[in-house]
Amino acid sequence: MDYKWPKEFDELATEARLWVKEATSDLFNTDDGWLVGYSDEFTLRLADKGWIGMTWPIDKGGDGRPEVERFIVTEQLLLGRAPMAGSFFPDRQIGPVLLSYGTEEQQERFLPSMRAGRSKWCIGMSEPDAGSNVAGIATKAIQDGSHWVVNGQKIWTSGAQSADWCYLICRTDFDTAPHKGMSEFIVDMKSPGIEVKPIKDASGDSHFNEVFFNDVLVPNENLVGEINNSFGQTMRQLEHERGGIDRLASNQRLYLDAKASVESPNALIRQQIAEIETGYKIGRDMVLRNVLRQTPFPQYSAVTKTWCTEFEQKVANFVGLVTGSEAMLSGRVARNLVYAPAYTIMGGTTQILRNIIGERILGLPREPRPQS
Ligand SMILES: Cc1cc2nc3c(=O)[nH]c(=O)nc-3n(C[C@H](O)[C@H](O)[C@H](O)COP(=O)(O)OP(=O)(O)OC[C@H]3O[C@@H](n4cnc5c(N)ncnc54)[C@H](O)[C@@H]3O)c2cc1C
Repeated sequence: MDYKWPKEFDELATEARLWVKEATSDLFNTDDGWLVGYSDEFTLRLADKGWIGMTWPIDKGGDGRPEVERFIVTEQLLLGRAPMAGSFFPDRQIGPVLLSYGTEEQQERFLPSMRAGRSKWCIGMSEPDAGSNVAGIATKAIQDGSHWVVNGQKIWTSGAQSADWCYLICRTDFDTAPHKGMSEFIVDMKSPGIEVKPIKDASGDSHFNEVFFNDVLVPNENLVGEINNSFGQTMRQLEHERGGIDRLASNQRLYLDAKASVESPNALIRQQIAEIETGYKIGRDMVLRNVLRQTPFPQYSAVTKTWCTEFEQKVANFVGLVTGSEAMLSGRVARNLVYAPAYTIMGGTTQILRNIIGERILGLPREPRPQS
């Protein structure tokens, strides 16, 4: 397939590439900038540029730009190693979820500060005993007059250390099938009773956390969507989370830099370069199908994320290979090598996504579930 962008899209990519270079020249840049790279200053610059919430409808404070423009800009931000963790969750999924399920009051209250880069968010989904199986969550919210009272623990909560708000999933009905009794809340991270404990990952970063909730009061008006029926909302949020260019390109700049330093590559290296170059194009086309809403089935993001994150691991291995023992001296390469296993865990593991592909897309027989 050989297709051409309209000229304006090429111009937008060039604008974004030049802008990100300038806007990050005095900042610390990192690969995985969308999850780990954090800079309040950069978040404000991105907001000033109008590139947070750029696709949100105009009457909701956005610019109503097509998704494909966000794709073009985001790819350049990733290639430029922009530290955008301060705005990525609101831009990628919390904003869109509020646009789909939030009340008008919630949209008016929360969207403008997201767009201005002035509110930071984290996502409280995983728990020590409920990661892949979201329906197994035990953090509970019980209504008491004008508030809900939340007790429990979340884990691996990225960005909780700097977040103003947590988009939290809780159990609210204890007498029904697990996936039917859940609700979603917006929780002020400054509420009394919240404790955030950083977890160090293998690379030495502490971008994710344990978060403990001890009798935390959440006003009734912070419930998002339907009470006891948030499972569909959560799945929709995961669709936003799984199908984007961030799942393909987070260490692509590392690859491009490594490739530039390889001289007279041998046949084995050339073969790997060919695989990576082709793999990037395939992954990019898969993401584009999501962006253009041309996916052949609803669970397509499971296919995209599986392909793209396994690709990111190939990139990490390639860079390690061509850097050789010097990788131990290069913080950037070593860091990416030890971090790479995370790509196929976060946002849904590859095993779970392969189950989805097998059972729901290919229609293979399902493993019988134990009767309770
Ligand atoms: C870098 C990073 C950032 C993260 N950020 C966040 C965040 O911001 N918010 C948040 O809520 N969570 C976050 N997570 C958590 C992430 O979503 C979970 O780690 C993930 O869903 C897997 O859950 P788990 O770790 O409990 O593993 P488990 O679910 O316990 O799985 C353990 C292993 O068993 C396999 N397995 C489990 N069930 C099945 C099955 N039915 N069939 C086949 N294999 C199976 C899994 O594939 C995995 O290999 C983050 C994780 C990482 C690594």
